[in-house]
Amino acid sequence: MSLARAPVLAYVGIGGNLGDARATVERAIEALAQLPGSRRVACSSLYGSAPVDAGGPDYVNAVAALETTLTAPALLAALQRIEQAEGRERPYRNAPRTLDLDLLLYGDGRIDSPALVVPHPRMQQRAFVLQPLAEIAPARVPAAALAAVADQAIRRL
Ligand code: AMP
Repeated sequence: MSLARAPVLAYVGIGGNLGDARATVERAIEALAQLPGSRRVACSSLYGSAPVDAGGPDYVNAVAALETTLTAPALLAALQRIEQAEGRERPYRNAPRTLDLDLLLYGDGRIDSPALVVPHPRMQQRAFVLQPLAEIAPARVPAAALAAVADQAIRRL
């Protein structure tokens, strides 16, 4: 019997809007490639977007695809460690942040636990997630979903 877990294709949303957000996002993309049991198989272009439900400067956003043998909770914990390494604080909900990493999709998995909800519950409302995700995984983003967020300002950097 093999104890090895089959790799899962997971998608991670990356965003930052404090300090040199572009450099932070680029470091995060690199950090994702270094995660144990994981291989980065794709990464979108960088995008710039106006904050949604939040203040502060424009965000830099991207989406990365990882083939990973980490469980979804282990992957979330790893994402949170990368956030912490970038000095993220959470003074209040939706506060401007140095780095925000969201587990968007974990294969076809559906997870609904107190600490983790996948697919990410708010991704369908956010052009800054759907547009970079559509760039690297068009089959995961219905045209109607993209059309529904077409009014949100987002540009490829
Ligand atoms: P935020 O401050 O927006 O980064 O939210 C972080 C909180 O959302 C953490 O406490 C996570 O446990 C929770 N969370 C639930 N689902 C997800 C997900 N799919 N990706 C990232 N964080 C999640």
